[in-house]
Amino acid sequence: MGRHTFFRWASVLLQASVLLQGSVLLQACAPRPVVTAFRLEGYPDQLATRVMPNLESAPLRELVVPPVWIPAGGQRLELLLDRARLPVFPGRWAVRVLLRPNRTVTLAVAGPAQALRQFDVLGRGPLRRLETVRGDGELPAFVRFDTASEPEPLFVILDVDAPVFLSRIEELPFPSPLSSTTPPASPTSAKPVNFAALALVGMPPPRSLKAGYRFGTSPRYAFLRRDAVEALRVAFRQVRKRWGREPLVMGDASQWNGERPATDRHLPRHISHQGGRDVDLGLPGTDGDSSLRHRCKLVLAPPDRATCEPDSVSGLDAPRLAYLLALLIEGPTPSGRFIAEGSKRPGPSAPVELIFADAAFIEAVRKALPELRKKKWIHDEALDALADDRVLRASPWHTDHVHIRFAGEPALVHDGLRDIRYSP
Ligand SMILES: [Zn+2]
Repeated sequence: MGRHTFFRWASVLLQASVLLQGSVLLQACAPRPVVTAFRLEGYPDQLATRVMPNLESAPLRELVVPPVWIPAGGQRLELLLDRARLPVFPGRWAVRVLLRPNRTVTLAVAGPAQALRQFDVLGRGPLRRLETVRGDGELPAFVRFDTASEPEPLFVILDVDAPVFLSRIEELPFPSPLSSTTPPASPTSAKPVNFAALALVGMPPPRSLKAGYRFGTSPRYAFLRRDAVEALRVAFRQVRKRWGREPLVMGDASQWNGERPATDRHLPRHISHQGGRDVDLGLPGTDGDSSLRHRCKLVLAPPDRATCEPDSVSGLDAPRLAYLLALLIEGPTPSGRFIAEGSKRPGPSAPVELIFADAAFIEAVRKALPELRKKKWIHDEALDALADDRVLRASPWHTDHVHIRFAGEPALVHDGLRDIRYSP
């Protein structure tokens, strides 16, 4: 190994260990992973990592770095624009994926649930910071992003131990509510129907802290109607901007094909959550943790209702929760500015129909609202809408999250997503 090569790998190791520090604590009690890290030629500022979580033998600090990660001869595949699906055989591959401009793109890997060893995305330009979210590491796996007007191809690093398919599913871009283009009119109604807004799409992985959220479920179960995804993204970003605290947490929405989460495993969760109109969000915490965790003492009531014991709420950041709910109801304003007149605001991209939470959290939210209004962080509209149970309703089993139901039709599922199946 030449001196130059040595330093290159030394720097790779160093960066990999920095990247992994965050996960060291979490992994302390779990079997230690084997990690390999490498770079792709032409992508000098990005590092692909490979984590194999179930091998107990190798301690974390002994990073295994292959001297050449693409075997001589180049196991390089291409997903060109003339096809949407590429078979990938067992092994490690760098797949060059071509992209169309101005699309919402979902890359999906489908195959036997346990076949995936690595799924990383290396992009350039605006997609430079795109990362796949591991979730439970099982297939099918998804990553969703939007392309700009001149997208460069990206590389998908795929390591699988069984044959899989890599698919590229494309949707037209989400029309901005402020854009002047007219959406296509439906032949059966006078009101224009915005098909691009009705597509079922995955929540994109956050690309910076500014996004204001992280996944609390597998990206496989984080699909929503697109207008709802946009409503959440805008609200998460604004909450982060206003409060600057840790990211909020998105829990289960719908499965990639519009079904209830974990229907693929024959263990469907939730009663609703079908069709991409429902999402569970973690409760903002005062302790820097907004994951889906109980924020009160539970009481079980027959036959099977769990609610918060009176006066037992603790660690709930009620003002931040109230602000989030208000934003979802009112929609964004430029830079979060106060605009008294409702007609001068763009309104939400997807109207909220119902919000379910424990009665104890609802009480805390209602107490927090007047102060937010006084500060002119929210408008009269949210104050009014959240004042009674028209929208905000008490519900058992909502002791560790708040459930948002968006109004309107179920999302339209792209054939490319519908065709993806779970195989054990
Ligand atoms: Zn729910």
